[in-house]
Amino acid sequence: MRRSPVTASRVAIVTGAGRGIGAAVARRLASDGFAVGLLDLDEAGVKQGAEAIVADGGRAVGVALDVSDAGQVEAAVTRVAEELGAPTVLINNAGITRDNLLFKMTEQDWDSVLNVHLRGSFLMTREVQKYQTQEKWGRIVNLSSTSALGNRGQVNYSAAKAGMQGFTKTLAIELGKFGVTANAIAPGFIATDMTAATAERVGMSFEDFKAAAASQIPVQRVGTPEDIANVASFLVSEGAGFVSGQVIYVAGGPKD
Ligand code: NAP
Repeated sequence: MRRSPVTASRVAIVTGAGRGIGAAVARRLASDGFAVGLLDLDEAGVKQGAEAIVADGGRAVGVALDVSDAGQVEAAVTRVAEELGAPTVLINNAGITRDNLLFKMTEQDWDSVLNVHLRGSFLMTREVQKYQTQEKWGRIVNLSSTSALGNRGQVNYSAAKAGMQGFTKTLAIELGKFGVTANAIAPGFIATDMTAATAERVGMSFEDFKAAAASQIPVQRVGTPEDIANVASFLVSEGAGFVSGQVIYVAGGPKD
């Protein structure tokens, strides 16, 4: 595992780190040298992820929480700070889908999706910025999506993911003077449990669903969680200090 002296003392928090993109980002940041707090609803997933990082010579802790609950967010961030040190990198990745056409969408489906993505990212960022502004250094990476540009059956999710972009740009403006950058990654189709669940919902095998998606993507393949982890690794690096308020589409082709 390669570790740089600069990142050796830095602490990153990744939400939704129990599986999928969040788990890959946590692994990558650990191999970049960060100590990592893995946060997720799924306690077993983050405990396992943290144990794997520790077994590989890194520092990590897994903490269960619901990112949309202010008390749980405060307790989890405090625990990471006590166990690993002041968290100055935050990856707001926890997410859910509750897809349906507008006329069939329930208020609960609307509220759940906006609560996890927007309220969750707001609560996490409000907590972590205390450490970032004190340390005069920080990196925030928010997970948006190509769905921010509109996607049939996802009026709740696309509104949340477009919201993540405005949220990111305002964070960049407010926190820049404290040495904190904020950027968003907007993935296209990434093979995870989330897209597997969509395949099931539309009645296709995951293999057929991925093949159909790949045929529409310029690079002719679907993305992997590591494709997103590579970009996150750059955005939290020292070298990305002049990149802020940007939305980077990671979709195997152009999107805007
Ligand atoms: P995933 O495999 O479903 O993983 C999401 C993780 O977030 C799960 O471990 C889940 O926990 C956790 N989570 C959900 N609600 C939470 C809450 N309230 N508090 C804490 N953790 C919570 O999804 P993914 O595909 O890796 O997606 C990660 C992020 O990328 C999401 O923001 C998603 O919207 C975004 N994204 C994904 C794609 C894609 O194609 N996969 C494309 C664009 C954007 P549980 O396991 O306990 O539910």
